[in-house]
Amino acid sequence: MNDPRPPTPVRAATAEDVAARVAATVRSDVRAMRAYAVAKADGLIKLDANENPHSLPQEVRNKVAAAIAAVAVNRYPDGAADDTRAALRRALGVPDAAGIVVGTGSDELIQVVTTALASPGAVMLVPEPTFVMYGIYAKLAHLRHVGVPLRADFKLDAGAMVEAIERDKPALVWLASPNNPTGTRFDSGAVERVIRAAPGLVVVDEAYGPFASGTFLPRALEFPNLVVMGTLSKIGMAGLRLGYVVGHPAWIAEFDKVRSPYNVNSLTQVAAQALLAERALFDEQTAAIRAERARIVAALSAMPGVTTFATEANFVLARVPHAARWFAALREAGILVKNVHGWHPLLDNCLRITVGTPAENDALLAAFGGIK
Ligand code: PMP
Repeated sequence: MNDPRPPTPVRAATAEDVAARVAATVRSDVRAMRAYAVAKADGLIKLDANENPHSLPQEVRNKVAAAIAAVAVNRYPDGAADDTRAALRRALGVPDAAGIVVGTGSDELIQVVTTALASPGAVMLVPEPTFVMYGIYAKLAHLRHVGVPLRADFKLDAGAMVEAIERDKPALVWLASPNNPTGTRFDSGAVERVIRAAPGLVVVDEAYGPFASGTFLPRALEFPNLVVMGTLSKIGMAGLRLGYVVGHPAWIAEFDKVRSPYNVNSLTQVAAQALLAERALFDEQTAAIRAERARIVAALSAMPGVTTFATEANFVLARVPHAARWFAALREAGILVKNVHGWHPLLDNCLRITVGTPAENDALLAAFGGIK
């Protein structure tokens, strides 16, 4: 690492030269994009990213530390992630005959699935508004993006979805349920209608499944064109970056070809195994978040001018009289939420607010109540 030679003086290429090469080389649609912006939350109560607000008890941290200390970081990770996948199977109750593939967060797996299905001319269909990464990866893979608006109450419009399926024959349909940023869990009958109508793959993305009253995971083998996606991020392990897709082994085998060989690093793998053994802790935290969600919804919906929408996620979507003003006033009060106004016409004047700890939620409600 220590180079004994004196540095050779070099003249850096000029910014103009580089910009010209970039403009002539990088895809024009990529150049027109903006990188996914992550807001800085230093010193703020962070209710903007749908994280679990509870940290780990010291004795659990010690177990994770011991597991990580034993890792041979000079070696590549287990590329098949066998022990990690086995731990997920046990923790989630994955059907024995189902396959499972893991990724660096479900974000990576969204890209993997998209890439695997991106034949020339293929269509990706989503209800909207929904999680933005489906659209971004579809664009990068040159899939044609077809969006079907949700109903005004953010329920799935199954009739309109089926019509679009018959018209556009999508290779890929994403159903985030509960959906981000609306919080809505889609009715199982409506989801089933979409699965039965779709000629291609339907991915039910259950990132927020642990906060919901139902899941498609036990039904992952029931349909020839369904896989179920999930993540450890929302229940309290966002920093690990571990997501998964469960489904018929024939689908999983194709996704396995598209992912990077060592996509999930060894520190994440051992930490996830240690933490998946702490089932009771995460169940308790998840239940506490659901209880606080009910309290926030009740309090917000009683405030004049504020509307909340049915949520089964770890966040609440609220419509306020003026989203930008409310967002700024909350920030002034030291609270960071997500202003989703402008993302989609249905999200007019909406804020997405992650459920925090009881004290954080008290601060949120006090600040909210004070906005004029
Ligand atoms: N799916 C949905 C619906 C999400 O909201 C998110 C996180 N914002 C993800 C997937 C990705 O989560 P991760 O990459 O942390 O697993």
